[in-house]
Amino acid sequence: MKLKSLQAREILDSRGNPTVAVKAVLENNVWAEAMVPSGASTGTHEALELRDGDKKRYAGLGVLKACENVNNKIQNVLKNFDISSQAAVDEQMIKLDGTENKTNLGANSILGVSLAIAQAQAKAQNLELYAYLRQNFVLDLTDYRLPYTMMNVLNGGKHSNNGLNIQEFMIIPQASEFAERIRLGAEVFQSLKKILNEKGHSTAVGDEGGFAPSLSTNEEALQLLQIAIEKTGYVLGQDVCLGIDAAASEFFNKEDNSYTFDKQKISAEKLMDIYQQWTEKYHIMIIEDGLAEDDWKNWAVLTKRLGAKIVLIGDDLFVTNTKRLQKGIEQKVANAILIKVNQIGTLSETMAAINLARAHHYQVIISHRSGETEDTTIADLAVAVNADYIKTGSLSRSERIAKYNRLLAIDRNFK
Ligand code: PGA
Ligand code: ZN
Repeated sequence: MKLKSLQAREILDSRGNPTVAVKAVLENNVWAEAMVPSGASTGTHEALELRDGDKKRYAGLGVLKACENVNNKIQNVLKNFDISSQAAVDEQMIKLDGTENKTNLGANSILGVSLAIAQAQAKAQNLELYAYLRQNFVLDLTDYRLPYTMMNVLNGGKHSNNGLNIQEFMIIPQASEFAERIRLGAEVFQSLKKILNEKGHSTAVGDEGGFAPSLSTNEEALQLLQIAIEKTGYVLGQDVCLGIDAAASEFFNKEDNSYTFDKQKISAEKLMDIYQQWTEKYHIMIIEDGLAEDDWKNWAVLTKRLGAKIVLIGDDLFVTNTKRLQKGIEQKVANAILIKVNQIGTLSETMAAINLARAHHYQVIISHRSGETEDTTIADLAVAVNADYIKTGSLSRSERIAKYNRLLAIDRNFK
C-alpha cells in the first residue's frame, strides 16, 4: 500500500490552543485524520513541540510551521512510499528530521503523520486500530486485556489555579470487568461533586475534567476522595484505590534541591516520608513523578523504599524515551513507565519504549495529555499492548470521555 497524500491543518485542543491535525490519504483513497495532543507540565527532556512563536497569532502558540512541515517536507519523502510497515514510515521521518529531539520538524508534525497513517492503514485493512497495531508491530501477545483506569478526579498543579502542589489525585477502580470500572469511577466522581457542594467548595473542573477546589493542604484532597468513596458504599483500598501524579518537577527548587510542599520547603527525604504515610493511610497504590525529573539519586531511594509495595511511575523522568528508561533500569529507578506518544513523536519509538519496559518487568501506563482532542488512538494503543493502566483523565469533558467510550466499545468486541 502506498501513501497518496498528507494534509495537515491547524485545529484547537481542549484548552482552546492550536494543535496539529493530519489527514493521510492512501492510494485507494481510504483516509483517516489524526489529532495531536499537547502537555502543560511538560518534561524538559520531551521531544520538541513546534510552535510558531508569532505573537500576532494565538499568543505565539500557532502551529502553522508544523503543518507546513507535514504538507511539504514530510509529504515529499512519504508520497508514494510503501507504508506497509509503520516502522519504515517512522524511520523515514526520523531520518528526515535528523535531530535527537525532533527539533527540526517538530514532534507534533511527525506524530500527526505517524498516527494518521496507522489509522488509515487499519481502515484500509478493515481492522480495528488495536488489532492493526498489534499485527503491524508483531507484538508477542495472544489474549486481549482491557487496562485498569487511573481517573484524575481532583486536579491541582499546573492544571488548575487552586494552589495544590500535587497535580493529579486519581481513583483506580478494581472491578474485574472493564465496564464496571467505568461505572465505579463515574459513581465516585458524582459522589465527590456532592461532597464538594455540601462543603461549599467549587465544583468547577480543571484541564483534565477533575474538580479543582481550593483546599488548604494536599492531604485534604485525599480525605475528600476517601469520603467520596465511602459515601458510594465502596471500600477504599478494596473496590477503589487511590493514586497521585505529583508532577514533582513543578515544585522542585533547583537552587537547594528542596521541594515546596503545602507552602513549605522540604527535603526529598521528608517528601518520601509523606508519601510513605499516605500509602498506609489512604491506600495509595500508584505514585507518578513523586520526585523531579533529574533527581535520579533520590528516585533510587524512593524505589528502594516503596518499589516493592506500590507502582512508581516515571513520566517526566522517562519521557517515553528508551535512553532514559534504560538509565532507569540500570539504576533501579521506578517500576513503571508513563507512555505519551507526543513525548517521543512516533508510534514506533513509543512501541520501543513499551517493549523495553516489558522486557524489564516495568508496568506500562498509556497516557493522554492535559491538552487533548477527540482523537482516541491511545485507547486502541492501550489494548494493542495489553497496557496495565490507561490514564485519560476524569469522568467529565468529552475529550476524556471519548477514550473511555472507545474502550467500552472495544470491550464489547470481546464479549
Ligand atoms: P501534561 O500532564 O499533559 O500537562 O504534561 C499530564 C501528566 O503530567 O501526566
Ligand atoms: Zn505526569
